[in-house]
Amino acid sequence: MANENTGKRSWGLRFSFRNDIGIDLGTANTLVYVHPKGIVIDEPSVVAVNKKTGRVVAVGKKAREMVGRTPAHIEAINPLVDGVISDFEIAEEMLAHLLRRAREHTSSFIPPRVLVGVPSGITNVEIRAVRDAAKNAGARSVNIIEEPMAAAIGIGLPVLEANGNMVVDIGGGTTDIAVISLGGIVQSKNLRVAGDHLNQDIIRFLKEKYKLQIGEKTAENIKIELGSVVDEKKPLSAKARGRDLVTGLPKEIEVTDSDVKEAILVSIEKLIEAVKNVVETMPPEVMSDIMKRGIYITGGGALLRGLDSVLESFIKVPFYLTDDPLTTVARGTGIVLNDFDRYKEILIQNDDEQPTE
Ligand code: ADP
Ligand code: MG
Repeated sequence: MANENTGKRSWGLRFSFRNDIGIDLGTANTLVYVHPKGIVIDEPSVVAVNKKTGRVVAVGKKAREMVGRTPAHIEAINPLVDGVISDFEIAEEMLAHLLRRAREHTSSFIPPRVLVGVPSGITNVEIRAVRDAAKNAGARSVNIIEEPMAAAIGIGLPVLEANGNMVVDIGGGTTDIAVISLGGIVQSKNLRVAGDHLNQDIIRFLKEKYKLQIGEKTAENIKIELGSVVDEKKPLSAKARGRDLVTGLPKEIEVTDSDVKEAILVSIEKLIEAVKNVVETMPPEVMSDIMKRGIYITGGGALLRGLDSVLESFIKVPFYLTDDPLTTVARGTGIVLNDFDRYKEILIQNDDEQPTE
């Protein structure tokens, strides 16, 4: 049946796929996926702004490098704090900047179809802001997906089937816990205990125990180097440099994995409690699915050593750490864009279904 219709349709598909862009608008990192290249941008969600002129000076890595090293009138802004867009204007500028850069990776002059992954629980006002920002930046259509859904798809879970799937996405500002079935989020919880929170725990702990004031980047490095929630076979240690709060002078101390464990203990307990709570309140059928299929942890925070096994021992369900957890959502947007008709029902905003303007 190679009739005119089929011919037209396949041309139409190729046409629309030529210029698709997926964006993971994370609180810590923003990733951009361009078909068919893959992830072309992976940068911190930071914008440097000149307070005198109100102009954006840098976005992403460049902006982060400026933090703490710039003249007072240049300010580094995180447009997404605690999983919500805290600064609309700056978020818009960041999106526009990234879309412009992403378009350099596309061969076509046709405006792109854009799919943005947003934190779950985003408000309608925020959805509109994201849509307007992408439109103003030249998107042909703007589609929106909740990040836990994109994460589940990126992991390869059968989200469209009548089967419970559970994902815990531990990002910078928030942890998203979601149960997904039949293309929808059937249960979810969003908590502010995530990567940034653990950095703050480490800062507070070193201040109290060693009278040492360290910066946020140092805290994050310590967490990544030593962060663990289980007993390490060989103790890990690293140097922490900062200001001696007694003398005011520079000081260097040796920190160990047990320091970090103690520092983040309360936050990790909160995280376990929240996951447990979602499991405890799910319908029995879903619980039976989850017991069989396990729970997937993803996002940068999932890389904390031993987190999967600690969760497993408390909740009595298998936990799996996903491969490459920092790119799960971005890869998920790529999968949706490549099979748009199949996944369009699960989007929380679907521009392509609306009449063209
Ligand atoms: P978001 O989606 O909110 O942008 P990401 O999924 O990009 O967040 O994860 C960023 C968080 O992951 C940061 O808080 C970072 O410190 C943390 N992270 C990255 N690598 C590791 C690691 N190896 N161990 C622990 N935390 C990590
Ligand atoms: Mg994320």
